[in-house]
Amino acid sequence: MFSLVFTRRYSMAHRLIADPAGKCAIPHGHNEQVIARLQSAAPQRLDGGANMVVPFDRAKARWHRFIDDQVDHAFQLGAGDPMIDWFRAHEPQRLGRLLVTPGDPTTEMLAACLMAKLNAFLAADGNGLRCVELTVEETPTNAVTLAGDPADVLPAGDGAGWWVRADDSINDLAS
Ligand SMILES: [Zn+2]
Repeated sequence: MFSLVFTRRYSMAHRLIADPAGKCAIPHGHNEQVIARLQSAAPQRLDGGANMVVPFDRAKARWHRFIDDQVDHAFQLGAGDPMIDWFRAHEPQRLGRLLVTPGDPTTEMLAACLMAKLNAFLAADGNGLRCVELTVEETPTNAVTLAGDPADVLPAGDGAGWWVRADDSINDLAS
C-alpha cells in the first residue's frame, strides 16, 4: 500500500506544569516539525495512466495552512494552566494564539491532537485519505510517533475538543 508523507516545520512555545519541580514549567520553545503519513481508505491499483494514489495537493495545502497560520508561534498550555486566566485578564486579544490541550501540552498530547485535526480536515474534504501515522519531532533527536486512532489515546472524556473540528481553532476558550 502506498503512503503519502509530508512534513512541515513550525516554532512553538509551551510549558508543562504537572511536575512543578520540572524545568519545563518555565515557558520555553522548540523548533519542531510534524510529519504526517496518509493512506487511501480504499487502496486501488495504479491505473497505468495518471498513476497517482489520489490527488492530495488540496489536502496538503489545507494542512500546511493550518500549521503555518495557527500552530506556528502558538503558545501551548494545558487547560488548567493559570496563564490562560492571565491572558484572559490582560491580553484577551491573544487568546486565539493559545493552543490548549487537556492536561500538559507534551509532545505525545500534541501528536494526538494534530493527528485528530488532520483527520477531521481529511474527512471534511471527502478525499478518501486518512492519516495513519503522525510524528512530532521536538528536537532532531527526540520525536514521538503515533499510529492508529488518536481517540484511543486522548484522555477519557476529552473526545470533542477543537482537534475534532475541521476548522482553524486551536482551543475552546470562546465556547
Ligand atoms: Zn519543551
